[in-house]
Amino acid sequence: MMKKVVKIIHTHSRHWVGNGFPVRSLFSYRPDAQEVSPFLLFDYVGPHFFEPHTEEKPRGVGLHPHRGFETVTIVFDGEVSHRDSTGGGGTIGPGDVQWMTAGGGIIHEEYHSLGFSKTGGPFRAVQLWVNLPQKSKMMPPKYQTIEQNEIPRVDVVGGSMRIIAGAWGDIQGPAKTHTPMNIWDLKLQADAKTELVIPKDHNTLIAVLSGHITIDDQGVGEAEVALLSQQGDTVLITADGASSLMILSGLPIDEPVVGYGPFVMNTEAEIRQAVDDYNNNRFTFAQEQ
Ligand code: MN
Repeated sequence: MMKKVVKIIHTHSRHWVGNGFPVRSLFSYRPDAQEVSPFLLFDYVGPHFFEPHTEEKPRGVGLHPHRGFETVTIVFDGEVSHRDSTGGGGTIGPGDVQWMTAGGGIIHEEYHSLGFSKTGGPFRAVQLWVNLPQKSKMMPPKYQTIEQNEIPRVDVVGGSMRIIAGAWGDIQGPAKTHTPMNIWDLKLQADAKTELVIPKDHNTLIAVLSGHITIDDQGVGEAEVALLSQQGDTVLITADGASSLMILSGLPIDEPVVGYGPFVMNTEAEIRQAVDDYNNNRFTFAQEQ
């Protein structure tokens, strides 16, 4: 049975995160956290062309905290460097993924790499916020660097797909997740008609990064997201031109979501605790080994 399009989400709010990341938020847990759960937020960064940067400090966003969820950064063009309060850090480039579990608390900064900063060039990335279930929200922070050569690529009808998280048949993605989910990076040629099998009971979101597709007789263009029904286990995508898509599906986390800025917890009291802990320097956890 085919999954149906419940709605097309289109936001055109553009903003800058620091001076390095021109973002369009394609969806958010506001207003309805349950329909996008276990995902919280999808920021599409760029595409943007950066001129060479002459200042010593690369463009980006300075030290800021997170608690209660994970940030997943997928780079398509450019390079991102990260440094955090656990001593973790590193640089990811085109095709690489950084999966950062903030857990009980992390403070980090995200910048263009020194090299990219100097040369400039095209920049394009995705940052996804993935919720943690209540039992994992206060876990020690953790950091998975997933390099592009670790991500399996499978052929689909009319294109190819990288399995970042979850599974396609018996092909497993490398990311370790806390609840069942799929994160796939799909490229389709013009006029491709491809069928994806996605578990029923999963919330499913299909984001168009470039190009245009049709699902269930509904058009989905650049920076738009199709929210699909949980019912059904198949989705038929027609590419109306060469298209680049992110396919997200996951078992919803059936818990309340209360967010405030960089903190996403289950209750208001936990948010007040997060603010208090951050203001009193209690965000210095050791990284999980
Ligand atoms: Mn961050």
